[in-house]
Amino acid sequence: MNKKKEDPVKDRAALVTSAKKEYGGLDRFRMAAAILVVAIHTAPLVSYSETGDMILTGILARVAVPFFFMVTGFFLLSKERLTDFSYRNFFLKNAKLYALAVLLYLPLNFYAGHFSEGDSFTGFLQDLVFDGTFYHLWYFPGVLLGTGLLILLIRRLSGKGVLTVVLTLYLIGVLGDSYYGIASQWAPIASFYEFLFHFFDYTRNGLFFAPVFLFLGARLADKKESPVVNVSLRNLWISLSLMVLEGFLLHTFSHPRHDSMYMMLLPSMYFLFQTLIALRGKGHPEMRSIAAAVYVIHPWCIVLIRGIVKFTGTQSLLVNNSLIHFLLTALLSLLLSCFFRKLWISARAIEKGALAEEDPTGRAWSEIHLPSLQHNVKELQSLLPEECKIMAVVKANAYGHGDCRIAAELQRIGITSFAVASLKEGIRLRQYGIKGSILILGYTIPEDAEQLNKYGLTQTVVDYAYAEALDRMGQKINVHLKVDTGMHRLGEDWGHLERFSQILKFNNLTIHGIYTHLCSADSLSADDIFYTTKQIRNFYQVVRYLLSKGCSLPEVHIQSSYGVLNYPQLECTHARLGIALYGCLSEEKAGTRLDASLKPLLSVRSRVSIVKELSPKESLGYGRTFIAETPMKIAGISVGYADGVPRDLTGGYVLINGKRAPIIGRICMDQLTVDVSEIPEVRQGDIATIIGRDGEEVITAEQVAGWSGTIANEILSRLGNRLERIYKEK
Ligand SMILES: *Cc1c(COP(=O)(O)O)cnc(C)c1O
Repeated sequence: MNKKKEDPVKDRAALVTSAKKEYGGLDRFRMAAAILVVAIHTAPLVSYSETGDMILTGILARVAVPFFFMVTGFFLLSKERLTDFSYRNFFLKNAKLYALAVLLYLPLNFYAGHFSEGDSFTGFLQDLVFDGTFYHLWYFPGVLLGTGLLILLIRRLSGKGVLTVVLTLYLIGVLGDSYYGIASQWAPIASFYEFLFHFFDYTRNGLFFAPVFLFLGARLADKKESPVVNVSLRNLWISLSLMVLEGFLLHTFSHPRHDSMYMMLLPSMYFLFQTLIALRGKGHPEMRSIAAAVYVIHPWCIVLIRGIVKFTGTQSLLVNNSLIHFLLTALLSLLLSCFFRKLWISARAIEKGALAEEDPTGRAWSEIHLPSLQHNVKELQSLLPEECKIMAVVKANAYGHGDCRIAAELQRIGITSFAVASLKEGIRLRQYGIKGSILILGYTIPEDAEQLNKYGLTQTVVDYAYAEALDRMGQKINVHLKVDTGMHRLGEDWGHLERFSQILKFNNLTIHGIYTHLCSADSLSADDIFYTTKQIRNFYQVVRYLLSKGCSLPEVHIQSSYGVLNYPQLECTHARLGIALYGCLSEEKAGTRLDASLKPLLSVRSRVSIVKELSPKESLGYGRTFIAETPMKIAGISVGYADGVPRDLTGGYVLINGKRAPIIGRICMDQLTVDVSEIPEVRQGDIATIIGRDGEEVITAEQVAGWSGTIANEILSRLGNRLERIYKEK
């Protein structure tokens, strides 16, 4: 079934629309932070300068892991988010990842001789809960323990109270980390830490390190006013410089136990994060998973590279230079991470595909008969002069028929011009692989000019002012001029010839065509024919004027469906056909000069959900608007106004087993009820036809439109998303 093909495009469109609050700065820094962690573990500068490397990996790069903690705090633990934060789910998700990572590094643990007789089970537990089972894996227990602890604190203490506790914990951590050389000179402190270090090797863990950064992240999310980039940046430089000084002094004049925690790391992280929030920009969700993967797999990459180098004897060339070693490790980690991400995505797609195997005809669906599309194209083309081609109007999801699939089918049978209403519709078609020209009939904000250019879409110039604004965006764009000849919707007034000739001077706009729209081409009353003739005359006056000014106007078009049926012989290069392509007209009894034998493509069907008896005087449905007069049999049908059946449809019926079943009572969102007293053999699960043929009986979209006082165009274009579309090739 080809509807599957459409889904990724749909998802992409949904992604674009939901991208309101994006933090591109944070996403990009995730990558940077992951690479900094790689640097910490490969010491890139050590071949050149020990001090330089100490400043990079022992001080500056220490922003990386706190950043990841802050991201968690920022997105999950703000006041707003905390109400629906489930620690249980958070724990399960991260514990699962941790378990995978632990397994991934087991071979290296064995290789390195962990788990030999000397190592106790408690040692393993201690690693699992605090230090991580491999040197970088402490992050997982860190975030789990830190988050759990912070949540407990937040639930019990005021904001100030929480801050005091997390700062105190951090202070204890710092004294056991980079200040340990100084602090341990005092005996009571030394024995305090000696006690602590029974439980873990470092104070850089979920207890002393993680909570403060999780908390800072959450606090930044709570702040309502957006930070100013310049101010945050200045503060960031000041605190980073002080941190370098602090770290440098500690490394030079004392013996730090470790170098993960500094006093100045707190303000540095705060201002770094603030700067990244202020940078906003487009989000890069892909970087989130790639950065996480780089973090997890890079120690494996270090081992792999060392192995390869040993095996090939390229030691001196590749790993003896610390910078090359770092770059190789970073590159391999990145490549593998991208590869794993791809694998993961396709695995997910397969999983989703499997879920989509349920029967599409289970509830309510539409069937689209593609051969009828080809028939209609042929039929309509035969009415037009030979040099006039069809421009297929596939706006509004091809009038509910599914734009990608319909356009692809039209492309297959030789159509090369398409029209849509909006930029997004145009982009969707391009992403689906539709070639040829795509004209956007509606207004596109000039700021989106780059997209028009990027996707090679043709834009309608809706008036002179718009042409000026679009030109100013500095993007080369193909346009069609729209002339308002009397409909008074879009278009520059036909009388403003001067303005049309001024549009020719805009260098960024290439005028590919000109068109107008008729407002009563569907009517054969003398009055309307007179008005339409005048519109056509006005249009050609503009065309002749522009040609005389040396403009080339390769495409000229006027008619839509009714235009072709009532005024087929106009001198045009294209006819913009919508409703007729789909085998319908707007109304049932609209007389037209030419009678095309069109075949509707679309049927809407649904299932009988239940069959019931109703006794006299019993009422039915919302508002009890229907009261049975005689004993009757009724059937529920699983389709409603959310699927596009108009709620005010009166006097209508559906077809079941080739017979008419009148609709009774109010139409609900997902269901409607019909009278099946005359169709005794109806059973649960039977198919009901809302639009289309069943046996000898047919219900057309025009009929349904008539029952609810509208036109078929509206009925079709408002068919609900929930209808599964089934394309029939035969
Ligand atoms: C929608 C539209 C069409 C197609 O009209 P139909 O009556 O469905 O053929 C043609 N031109 C313009 C400008 C439109 O907006």
